[in-house]
Amino acid sequence: MRVMQSGHEEVTVEDIFSCTRCGYCCHGETTVSLDDRDQERMVRKLGLDREEVAHRFWRISGSIVQMKVVDGHCIFYDPDQGCTVHEGRPWRCGQWPLHPSILADESNFSAISESCPGIRKELGYEEFCRRLRILLEREGNLIC
Ligand code: SF4
Ligand code: SF4
Repeated sequence: MRVMQSGHEEVTVEDIFSCTRCGYCCHGETTVSLDDRDQERMVRKLGLDREEVAHRFWRISGSIVQMKVVDGHCIFYDPDQGCTVHEGRPWRCGQWPLHPSILADESNFSAISESCPGIRKELGYEEFCRRLRILLEREGNLIC
């Protein structure tokens, strides 16, 4: 459990979010795109040649690199294990669902909490944001 302190208050990720591994965020007909650092990280994690990684796992369209979709989900998603490339996943995957845009607009909080059952929406928007702000200040944009 990661604990971060603000003044005398301790805030943990689990105070606002606990992944149920429902898999929703890894499903769809497209995936997030991978920037250069994402690609390098994934290649390193998989321990394969870049060409092999590209051939087996990436969908490349012009300068856009995404992960392949198989059976309606990211090729790295396994129903039993979840993300099978966890440490090599793109940064946008690591940002979900505690996205900073939640702080900007309650409608973003509503939309994300509707999609992600791990969000503790029962806290209410103001309290959720207060805790998220503390976590983001300590950890940057990649909390999960
Ligand atoms: S949608 Fe939320 S709860 Fe479901 S797997 Fe993704 S992060 Fe976890
Ligand atoms: S890389 Fe992992 S977290 Fe990202 S969509 Fe694929 S399975 Fe999900």
